Amino acid sequence: MMRPSDVTRVGVVGAGTMGGGIAHVFGLAGASVRLVDVDAAALDRALASIERNLSRQVAREVVSGDEAAAALGRIESARDLEAMADAEVVIEAANEDPGLKFALFETLSAVVSRNALLASNTSSISITRIAAHAADPARVIGMHFMNPVPVMRLVEVIRGLETSDEATDLTLGLCRRLSKTPVLANDFPGFVANRILMPMINEAVYCLMEGVADAEAVDAVMKLGMNHPMGPLALADLIGLDTCLAIMRVLHAELGDSKYRPCPLLAKYVAAGRLGRKTGRGFYRYERT
Ligand code: NAD
Repeated sequence: MMRPSDVTRVGVVGAGTMGGGIAHVFGLAGASVRLVDVDAAALDRALASIERNLSRQVAREVVSGDEAAAALGRIESARDLEAMADAEVVIEAANEDPGLKFALFETLSAVVSRNALLASNTSSISITRIAAHAADPARVIGMHFMNPVPVMRLVEVIRGLETSDEATDLTLGLCRRLSKTPVLANDFPGFVANRILMPMINEAVYCLMEGVADAEAVDAVMKLGMNHPMGPLALADLIGLDTCLAIMRVLHAELGDSKYRPCPLLAKYVAAGRLGRKTGRGFYRYERT
């Protein structure tokens, strides 16, 4: 398999919160990026937000104006997966829906070269199950970026049962090329990050539902008392409440323990379309950007 420095063409599937950030960091690292979404409005929003976030990095002198302009110039949007036929690496960041991801890996296997690395940014869906829908499960891996992608250093790298050593080494090297720190985990529900984080967020929602405290107070306790940079409810709004609910459902279904039952208030907010920052309202209200 190729070396991380040889990768020049990257495909990103899904231009939501995460896909835009993943396109941003690969663009800055010098790769040509095809960002594909079925929703044209999502693509427009993603490109606008990449441009805004690059400008912030220029203002903070993290990157130069020339580097930011070059990165933006390397990112192209498209509506069809065919646009990534020549990609050497594809990162899937579509919604946290098992059926959708299985279908995408079937289609991607038919579209991209047999040598391409197929990574999923899934927060909780089994990499082994996703890989079973690809033509070559040895080339499928989890590349779990954290939100916001340009800022957060960690990438949790998840090996499925059949993931090859070569695919793992390439993924670890790609993370380092992006100036991220990869941490390897094995394929169990929620991996490490969400096995620990989501039950904490879910418990914070129970505190709110049961009237233990209001949202500001729950978040203040965790920020001031536990030294968390953000409270769990503000973090849930940043992640997306639909994503949080989907992850809790995976933990509950696959580990089978009632301690992972999703809080009914979380499900109610999702049903109402209060998905957090991306819809302007979750546990808090936000100005739409
Ligand atoms: P999102 O809802 O913001 O974006 C998902 C995008 O995928 C949407 O724009 C949607 O139109 C697009 N999409 C749906 N079907 C598609 C298809 N067939 N082809 C192309 N695009 C399609 O979701 P997100 O928060 O960016 O999450 C994406 C993935 O990353 C999920 O698996 C999630 O679990 C994971 N993740 C999310 C976070 C987070 O904080 N939000 C963190 C780490 C990992």
